[in-house]
Amino acid sequence: MFQRLRSDFRLSIITLLGLSGFLGITPFAVLRFHQGNPAAGLVDVLILCGLCAGVIYAWVTGDTRRSGLIMAIIAAIGAVVMAGLVGTPGLYWLYPCLITSFFLTSPRVATSINVAAVLLTVAQGGAFAGIEQMGSFVATALVVSACAFFFAIRNEDQRRRLEHLATIDPLTGVKNRRAMDEELAIAQAHASRTGLSCALILLDIDHFKKINDEHGHSVGDAVLVDLVNVLRKNTRKSDQLFRYGGEEFVLLLPDATGIKTVIGNLQQLLRNHVKHPGGSITASFGVAELDWGETVDSWLTRADDALYQAKETGRDRAVFAEPRIRAVSQSA
Ligand code: GH3
Ligand code: MG
Ligand code: MG
Repeated sequence: MFQRLRSDFRLSIITLLGLSGFLGITPFAVLRFHQGNPAAGLVDVLILCGLCAGVIYAWVTGDTRRSGLIMAIIAAIGAVVMAGLVGTPGLYWLYPCLITSFFLTSPRVATSINVAAVLLTVAQGGAFAGIEQMGSFVATALVVSACAFFFAIRNEDQRRRLEHLATIDPLTGVKNRRAMDEELAIAQAHASRTGLSCALILLDIDHFKKINDEHGHSVGDAVLVDLVNVLRKNTRKSDQLFRYGGEEFVLLLPDATGIKTVIGNLQQLLRNHVKHPGGSITASFGVAELDWGETVDSWLTRADDALYQAKETGRDRAVFAEPRIRAVSQSA
């Protein structure tokens, strides 16, 4: 549970807001009934139920986008209705809603919710003692929303930059091994749901060290960049390329049909288009189709073993991994 809270920022915010909403609103719900204002008490109870439902939905489904949106809308509607029912004291509840909406949903949607909440509160009119109070409310609500908006935009921008730094290889611009682990898990889950075959190709440049040694590291770097450009231009949009490490790359194919032709074409392309002062490059390929019920680790290991065989048997070739079931029954 704590692991999930730590790794999913929006889920932790939803849980925190649900909990603080519960602790903050419950005493007032009791007070409203005690003061003989059952309508306001009922609205508080409905807000509490909505917030609890949002938190439970987020935990059960993992869909924090939808539950965040629902919670932001419920909180805003609740605060507007409460301002109409109890007057000025109800207005104060709108301020936390104006800020937390930016934690619960995207800045654009949060802005729309806030503007609608402020307009509806003003349209009701009943919450204000006079025109000056109404003006103060609108001005302060806009200032709070604007600050929260810019904070949210900046936060989102930094999150995107961090994600880019953590998942993209700086030399070639393709996704790195960390991103690959996630994508392989997604592909495996998708394949086991749909029964469709997917494959991964582990590609390792032959004698790459020699290129570095003879022509310099920068030439080696340029070869890696050229290789990625050629692979990107000549693979399907749905295929994904990752830098597995050094001069090894993984190509994930969500559809394994025609994979032999794909590899034949790639070998040809490398020979013709990835050059260095000493000639062109070749590569060895380890290919593994995902077996039914296979783990990502086993899938990668089979591709790695196949690549090893390709190297051992002379390089510049592709070796297709045995299906796991057959490999197991043969070794038994
Ligand atoms: P093999 O055919 O067996 O694969 O031989 P190889 O020389 O390609 O393989 P080896 O693993 O011995 O060497 C890989 C080299 O790749 C060693 C390392 O210096 C180089 N390398 C790793 N990352 C980079 C990089 O980002 N840029 C450059 N220029 N070289 C790199
Ligand atoms: Mg290598
Ligand atoms: Mg190599």
